[in-house]
Amino acid sequence: MPDINDAEQPETLAILPEVEQTQAEVTDFAALGLSEPILKALAEKGYSKPTPIQAQAIPVVLMGQDVLGVAQTGTGKTASFTLPMLDILAGSRARARMPRSLILEPTRELALQVAENFVQYGKNLKLNHALLIGGESMSDQKAALTKGVDVLIATPGRLIDLFERGGLLLRDVRVLVIDEADRMLDMGFIPDIERIVSLLPQSRQTLFFSATMAPEIRRLADAFLSNPKQISVSRPATVATTIKSGLVLVNEHDKREALRRLLRAEAVQNAIVFCNRKRDVDILLKSLLRHSFAVGALHGDLPQSVRFATLEKFKAGELQILVCSDVAARGIDIGGLSHVFNFDVPHHAEDYVHRIGRTGRAGREGHAYTLAAPADKLAVEAVEKLTGGAIPRIVIEGLDPAEWSDEDGRRRGRGPKKDRERERDREMGGADKERKAEPVGRPVRDQHRKPERRERDSNAEVRGFGENVPAFMLIRRRGASPAATDEEPRGPEDSGSDIAA
Ligand code: AMP
Repeated sequence: MPDINDAEQPETLAILPEVEQTQAEVTDFAALGLSEPILKALAEKGYSKPTPIQAQAIPVVLMGQDVLGVAQTGTGKTASFTLPMLDILAGSRARARMPRSLILEPTRELALQVAENFVQYGKNLKLNHALLIGGESMSDQKAALTKGVDVLIATPGRLIDLFERGGLLLRDVRVLVIDEADRMLDMGFIPDIERIVSLLPQSRQTLFFSATMAPEIRRLADAFLSNPKQISVSRPATVATTIKSGLVLVNEHDKREALRRLLRAEAVQNAIVFCNRKRDVDILLKSLLRHSFAVGALHGDLPQSVRFATLEKFKAGELQILVCSDVAARGIDIGGLSHVFNFDVPHHAEDYVHRIGRTGRAGREGHAYTLAAPADKLAVEAVEKLTGGAIPRIVIEGLDPAEWSDEDGRRRGRGPKKDRERERDREMGGADKERKAEPVGRPVRDQHRKPERRERDSNAEVRGFGENVPAFMLIRRRGASPAATDEEPRGPEDSGSDIAA
């Protein structure tokens, strides 16, 4: 087995090669040490045997050891931690506001999916969970915590918000899961994660999952884990030999026509179409609706309720096609997705792997088609380098011939770093809206930081009242225009920006 701590690992987000899969072929769920109620739930779900990550991780987690899992979505990694956690937690009960385990997810969608897993696998156990995610009522979440939760599933921003409001105590957390660490890094969540981990008891079990092992991720794993069992499973592009992929080189102005032709030519049961920019999600949605496709769209600026409703319609088969940005689609798990289309070649090669991992899951056949414009040459090369093979070229008859150009399409518009910052801001959006709805004068984080700031500034010369202006002097006169001090302070994320998710 290659050592993932090997210093020779490339700086780039290399995906580790296939390892340790033999165990999975000889074992079944019962042999992994799971209890009867869980085995029953698995049988009802129709899972006949564990996936490689499950076969390797479950016994280790049950023994109380830390795990460093290098695996992507589509490998069954969610069950590899949820199943043994259910067994570990089944023995005792939680106290109010003191969750016994914590699962950190980078996005709301992933958090919801993990929660769904707990409900399904834990249906024969009396365990409860709570979700702390942006865009949902904070008071409901507080109320759930007050009852005592066995499993707390959270996105980092909302967890810190609630912690700072005093609605949560983390000193009873015995099991911590950090899922999709590479995506957490991409979205700028690492400082939040470090803060959260510093609030947890030292003696805990930590399960850490990442699709890739960049140096920064390895640093975190070293800091958070104690003598972990390292488990790597192969990338979906290798696991899912069931994915048939193809790439069409097409002029920018022909992309929508090319997509329509592919959609009509293929036996599309249900498909996700990925766009790089939120604006393009909207344009493509309108275009496909005009051409009478049963299509919906997901992107970060849509209200949560609309996103859920669209997702439900898609799951129910009322919509055949979902046009998405990467963030909105992150981790969406829809059984039997027949096709993935990349309307744009992703800016980050690793997103290609995440995107096509939506199809060809659990042994089913899937199709992944990518439309590449002439300026996407370097982006396509990056994808092919990462996945270790050329994507077969496809020609669509009747469209203008296209040639690769030397322009680097990834440099146009927003750079990748900005995209990530925006992605992150967007994910934080729900939490900020929530904060504004609270009847407090300023964001809670600022209130907490204020005393520190005062201490730091205590030697500075103070004129008049300084920061300590008595409240009565701030009362606004009837009819007076609002003074700056009357306005609710706005955090940088509150600017209602035009964010490309
Ligand atoms: P994940 O990698 O956790 O996102 O899981 C990918 C998909 O595989 C989900 O739809 C799971 O419900 C499904 N899955 C997980 N474990 C198994 C299993 N042992 N057998 C069949 N499907 C599974």
